[in-house]
Amino acid sequence: MTMVWYIDMEGYQFDNKFVAKEIAIVNDDASQCFHYFIKNPQQMPDRPNTPSCYHQFKRHNLEWTFGDYNFSAAISDIRKHIKNEKVFAKGAEKTKFLQKWLPQLEDTVWISTSFKKLNNCFSELCKVKHGIQCARRKVHELMTADKLYKKRVSEVMVLQMIHEMTVAFSKMSLNN
Ligand SMILES: [Zn+2]
Repeated sequence: MTMVWYIDMEGYQFDNKFVAKEIAIVNDDASQCFHYFIKNPQQMPDRPNTPSCYHQFKRHNLEWTFGDYNFSAAISDIRKHIKNEKVFAKGAEKTKFLQKWLPQLEDTVWISTSFKKLNNCFSELCKVKHGIQCARRKVHELMTADKLYKKRVSEVMVLQMIHEMTVAFSKMSLNN
């Protein structure tokens, strides 16, 4: 079976742009997880001086200048790991942004629960301890939620099949 990956990122969003600060990817059995802190863009040494960017900083506590990877280096490392394998994110804007580099990326539109209510993976918070808005925790939440969803779908399919077989058998016995 081919591997499936999940990706999430934390960062700053302004003027319809994303500046990633933290990116995490995990595979579907959590045996592989990669995690990057991204440097600010060279041409932007300071955080945009807007209330919205300040608010975003207070949410994830990742300073504008924090990080050790260039965005392009992190992306090429990610591409090296996931190759052409399936990868999922959560959220239309994030997905659209990351699809520029990961064209196979899909939005998990079937998971209607918001990240706010996915609270199973606090043990997966990264080492920096910058609060609960952590991409490393969130990819684990997404992976867990997706696996639960797929398990439920297959259970429903099995029940459906049993039901159809029961109906078919009862018709057969009626005909005899
Ligand atoms: Zn983190």
